[in-house]
This record gives sequence, C-alpha cells and structure tokens, in this order.
Amino acid sequence: MKKDADVIIIGAGLAGLTAAKVLKAAGKSVLVIEASDAVGGRVRTDEVDGFLLDRGFQVFLTAYPEAKRFLDYEALDLCRFDPGAMILARKGISRIGDPMRKPGTLLSTLFSSAATFTDKLRMLRLKLKLSRKTIDAIFAEPEITTLAYLKKEGFSETIMSRFFKPFMTGIFLEDQLSTSSRMFEFVFKMFSEGDAAIPAKGMGAIPLQLAKCLSADEILFNQRVWAMEDNNVTTTKGAIFQGDFILIATDRLCLPMPLQQSVNAYHSVTNIYFTADKKPFELPLITLNSLPGKLVNNIAVMNNVSSRYSSNGDALISLSLIGDHSLTGEKELCASVIDELKYWYPEAINWKHLKTYHIPYALPNDDHVLNEPVYKNMRLNANCFVCGDYLMNGSINAAMKSGRLAAEAVINTMG
Ligand SMILES: Cc1cc2nc3c(=O)[nH]c(=O)nc-3n(C[C@H](O)[C@H](O)[C@H](O)COP(=O)(O)OP(=O)(O)OC[C@H]3O[C@@H](n4cnc5c(N)ncnc54)[C@H](O)[C@@H]3O)c2cc1C
Repeated sequence: MKKDADVIIIGAGLAGLTAAKVLKAAGKSVLVIEASDAVGGRVRTDEVDGFLLDRGFQVFLTAYPEAKRFLDYEALDLCRFDPGAMILARKGISRIGDPMRKPGTLLSTLFSSAATFTDKLRMLRLKLKLSRKTIDAIFAEPEITTLAYLKKEGFSETIMSRFFKPFMTGIFLEDQLSTSSRMFEFVFKMFSEGDAAIPAKGMGAIPLQLAKCLSADEILFNQRVWAMEDNNVTTTKGAIFQGDFILIATDRLCLPMPLQQSVNAYHSVTNIYFTADKKPFELPLITLNSLPGKLVNNIAVMNNVSSRYSSNGDALISLSLIGDHSLTGEKELCASVIDELKYWYPEAINWKHLKTYHIPYALPNDDHVLNEPVYKNMRLNANCFVCGDYLMNGSINAAMKSGRLAAEAVINTMG
C-alpha cells in the first residue's frame, strides 16, 4: 500500500494543528484526519443570525508561552477584557479592580475593611511570589486542591466567596475548587502577566490561523478514525490511510481502537446565548455570580469586547452554567436563568434565547496536572505518538505545547 504522508495526524484541534505546523516547518508531509466538519476541536465559533457564538465561553490568555511561540497576535486582532470583574451579590452589583495585577484595587465597598486590608496584602504577596516563580517551578510543586491552597494562603471567607470561588469556577469549570494548586498558580501567573482576550472574529480564529499551514489536500473532514494498526488508520467510512508515523491528537474520550478507555472524570459546562436590544451592562468585563446555589456562574456581553460578535449591535449575552444541564428542557432552563438574573437586571431587558451549547467534555479532570507529558504516554510504540491537553492540563497552552512536543519527538525519531 502506498503511504499517504510521513505523519498521519488524527484530530484537528489545537494540539493536532500545532503538531502539523511543527512537522511541516521541518519539511515533513502530513495528512490530518478530522471527524467533524471543521478545524478547532473545542475551540470553534459559529455564526448564527449575524452573531458570533463561541462553542462555550472561553478566553485566550495572551501570556501563554506556547501561544506566543506559534500565533500572530496582531493578525488575530485580539480584543481585551478589562482587568477585574463585576460581582453579583445579595446586596447588588459591585466592581472590583484587578486583584491579580494590582492587588491594591480590591474595593473596600465590597469587602469589610479588615478583610480588604489583609486580603490586599495576601494578594500582593501571592503576586510577588508567582512573578518570581517559573512555570517549571510551579509544576514541580506538590499538589493540593486549589481550595486548600487558598485557605493555606490565608484569604478571608469574603474574598473566597465573592471573588476566588466564582472566578476560578468559571475557569476550571468545576465548583469544588478541587483542581490542582499548580493549575491555580499557573492561571494566576498568566492573568497577572498578560490579558484575557478574544480574537475580534471569535475564538475559532485561533485554530483557523494555525490551519493556514495546511493545503486543502493535507486535511480531510468528516472522517472519524475508529481503529489503527501498525502504520495504518481506518475511518468509519472504511478508508485506510498509511503513514510512517501516526500521531493521535483526539480528546481522551475519542481515542481510536484499540486505545479506547473509559473516562469518568471530566468537567462539563452549558453555555447559553441570549440577545437583547438593551445591554445588561456596558463594560468589557466578566461578571461573576457569587451567590451559593446559583445556576449562572459567569456572564459576558460579548460585543462589549468585540463589536464583530453582533452584526446589528444588539447585545450578545453569554452565560456559563457549570455542569451538564442537558436533561433540563430548554424552555425551563432559559426561564430559570432569566428568573435568576432578574434579581440584578430587573429593567426591561428583552432576553431572547439564541442558542444553547451543552458541552459534556469541556476540560479533562485537572486534579493532577503537568507542564510536560510523561514520555511513555506520548510515545505508545515505535511509530505511534499521542498529544492533547489531557496529557498535561486543560488549557490552550497545554494543547499547543503537547502538539509541539509530540511533533518534535516524531522528528527526532525520523532523524
Ligand atoms: C467551554 C470551554 C471553555 C474553555 N475555556 C478555556 C479557557 O478559557 N482558556 C484555556 O486556555 N482553555 C480553555 N478551554 C480548554 C481548551 O479549549 C482545550 O484545552 C483545547 O482546545 C484542547 O485542544 P486539543 O487539541 O487537545 O483537543 P480537542 O480540541 O478536543 O481536539 C480534538 C480533535 O480531534 C477530533 N477527533 C476526535 N476523535 C477523532 C477521531 N476518532 N478521528 C478523527 N478526529 C477525531 C475532534 O473532532 C477534535 O477536532 C476550554 C474548553 C472548553 C470546551
């Protein structure tokens, strides 16, 4: 059988695309086989009725080292969130400055004066500690849960419930803060050393930029690889492709045979988009719901950040609900959400439901995380390599880094 490429890459998410870019830059031929109809994996943007909808609210942290290495930020036309957040609490809505970059901006209106003072000092101490600590050093630390870590740092219950819990829940997509303290330190460092941004035309612009290295005949869509053997892969349509090397870049749930494994622990999220002729707020800020037992964790008006998200200027409101809500009927879920938000936004906001994304597998379980894959997990045998965020941690940075490292390992093996 004639070989189709030096390297067959299974999956066109950020890991697979980064690997393709590195392999092509080294002069290797690739064939990327993707199960869905487009590149991006978990980072995609749909256009619906003139609105840009990211499939799940997510932000790009400009300080990610791997992103700096591979992405042209100017071409992405990055639009920044303002640092800080708005906090929805029983007493109303307040704004906090930028506790991670400027610990002094925690407002005393929000926190009791004693808590504000000591929390400011603790925040400052944490920021200094993490600015001096390398990413490698962060990932070499013993792991405890983020919750235990924040308690150990001595933060008050007020700042925990008003800021850290909803903020980190929105990032880790789990509300127990069981995620590794390494991940907390890494994310805190990234937030304090850069911006949280979205490309003007949606998060999907990131994989589209990476995919520019591929010609049309180097990527196949709507072909799911279900099995692999030696140097061959077989798709569900019965096609067989051969390469000197196989690089598996799927998520953990979708590994082809014979590698399939049952995965029980991962993080799910539900992302609901509403439009409205009136914006609930005007600032390019993330709004956090600090109430216990809440349904909506965080809110963003996407066209406050990039006007391109709404072609007619109506508000595009993105709501994140932690967990899997797919068993609740759509009407019921939307009604509960609007009912909850009316507490803070009672004026005549004409919420119109646009679309709901249920994302069962959004992030791998991040209770234990790494900054580099374990080699034996990345190299399965002489010809087969693996990459993907789950080998390290659930982030854009990890997906891209795992793709690069796997591609470099293939190149080294080829000689
Ligand atoms: C809602 C949400 C919010 C997030 N928030 C953030 C955030 O704010 N910041 C951040 O850094 N990260 C965030 N992430 C995480 C980040 O998006 C992921 O870590 C990253 O995109 C994973 O990339 P990947 O290439 O490893 O996997 P994936 O993106 O899952 O790519 C795997 C690809 O393989 C394809 N595939 C699967 N099986 C097969 C098969 N058998 N044959 C062929 N193709 C196959 C899939 O279709 C997919 O295209 C978020 C993720 C989600 C979903």
